[in-house]
Amino acid sequence: MKKNILAIDLGGTKIAVGLVNFKGKVIKKNVESTEIKKGAQGVIKQILRMGDDLLAGFQEKVVAIGIGTAGPLDIKRGLIFFAPNLPGWHNVQIVKPLKNHFHLPVYFDNDANAAALGEFLFGAGKGTKNMIYLTISTGIGGGIIINKKLYHGRGNAGEIGHMIIDPNGPKCRCGNYGCLEAFSSGTAIAREAKKNLKKASLIWKLAKGKKKNIDARLVFEAYKNGDKLAQKIILKSLVALGIGLVNITHIFNPDKVILGGGVMKDKKYILPFLRDFVRKKVMFGFKKDIKIEATKLKSDVGLIGAASLAIVKIRE
Ligand SMILES: [Zn+2]
Repeated sequence: MKKNILAIDLGGTKIAVGLVNFKGKVIKKNVESTEIKKGAQGVIKQILRMGDDLLAGFQEKVVAIGIGTAGPLDIKRGLIFFAPNLPGWHNVQIVKPLKNHFHLPVYFDNDANAAALGEFLFGAGKGTKNMIYLTISTGIGGGIIINKKLYHGRGNAGEIGHMIIDPNGPKCRCGNYGCLEAFSSGTAIAREAKKNLKKASLIWKLAKGKKKNIDARLVFEAYKNGDKLAQKIILKSLVALGIGLVNITHIFNPDKVILGGGVMKDKKYILPFLRDFVRKKVMFGFKKDIKIEATKLKSDVGLIGAASLAIVKIRE
């Protein structure tokens, strides 16, 4: 009988639970809004119920659980220390309730690491030995694969979004100033547009004069239509991201850098700029074969990534 993984992708806005096979294919899934108001225990109950629903009537074998969540985490103890997008969650035990309920081994990591592993096994990172994954959405998360394995350092390595690009830059939600995330995340792009909004800008027109309607997608829409303000904002965010990628290239000299997350819906505009920027700025000896690519797993990257956490351990 074919083996499968029960994969869980826990985020602040949605929870995805899926059955994923060892080829990285999502066989069945269920997505719900996170019942965040019910607190940590309420959300855990929601996950258990979603898992039960999915497993009901499933005839094939399920051998383990893989779960990716926002961090920082204590992977060994199965704890979420706290998560900015899960208010009120402090030192929440996430692994134990899953183990006790489903009687399966549980493999746990942060969502960006899980996504990096998913891309490495089944997506754009297939065939590489060393790769870096960045997810650019509300924040910027990162995952590092060295020698075909996730690199954790002493536990929390890979916080590439908090690489400081300019100490005089905008405040980051981590408390520092000028982190990559504070320049190049979707949130940062929207924030800049709100701050510098002028009635003459197309952003104003697209947002119908309401700041709350502005998000990164809207700014990109204005950018595509030649709006000057949008061009300035996008350029600033891409230059910061380019600097980040130059640093990554110098530190890791990876086979590939893979970019995912909501902002990459506009990859057509983003990738050529970044490739060109990095090629120009890296030192001699790094210029050859710079590979900056978009995710191949798209919206299922969270589930496939979570499953991958289990798959690599079972295959070992
Ligand atoms: Zn930061």
